[in-house]
Amino acid sequence: MSIKQNLNTILEAIPKHVTLVAVSKTKPVSDIMEAYNAGHRVFGENKVQEMVEKHEQMPKDIEWHMIGHLQRNKVKYMASFVSLIHGVDNLKLLKEINKQAQKHNRVIECLLQIKIANEDSKFGMSAKDASSILQSSVFAELKNIKITGVMGMATFTDNNTQIKQEFESLKNTFDSLKTIEVSNFKPETISMGMSGDYKLAINCGSTMIRVGSSIFGARNYN
Ligand SMILES: *Cc1c(COP(=O)(O)O)cnc(C)c1O
Repeated sequence: MSIKQNLNTILEAIPKHVTLVAVSKTKPVSDIMEAYNAGHRVFGENKVQEMVEKHEQMPKDIEWHMIGHLQRNKVKYMASFVSLIHGVDNLKLLKEINKQAQKHNRVIECLLQIKIANEDSKFGMSAKDASSILQSSVFAELKNIKITGVMGMATFTDNNTQIKQEFESLKNTFDSLKTIEVSNFKPETISMGMSGDYKLAINCGSTMIRVGSSIFGARNYN
């Protein structure tokens, strides 16, 4: 099937309130243009350099999402255009995003990455850490940041019961954080679900899925 067909198959299968982030990492601009020409505008990349290069070459009405683990010294390269940063897992990184956003006179939207997987390799903070960041006086001062929700990655396993439990724990974390009232926290997004598990994720409350290989085909990292 073509990229356009894959995209439409997924869009037809998901509810209207769920945002599809088309994960285009490792894929060439020509593939992304195929999705763009089919009407899609939201793309996710996991490397800053690659996202910057694609942003330069592509139409400017694309919403670029940074979905990968982010180093503080890379924030400046994308601060002028990134539309959502999914993987924020510490306060120092938030401060740097705020500083760079301020330079460009904009507010950058971010999701707090919560560790839900039972794997050391996955990044993220605990629900408790997220709660204390959101309630800290330091965070309240970060006027060029808006936290719009949470993001999580399930364990890499074919045990659906486990994946479901992890997605449910992210939904529960979101629901408990939601009660915190601070002006730069507007909880509306739960980013969870990838090609293999987005249907399960949506059943568990996901409002944003990050899908790569089911749209663009398998990735070749060479
Ligand atoms: C690569 C990636 C995805 C997409 O994975 P697929 O299995 O190809 O859909 C989603 N989220 C993150 C954080 C990724 O790095």
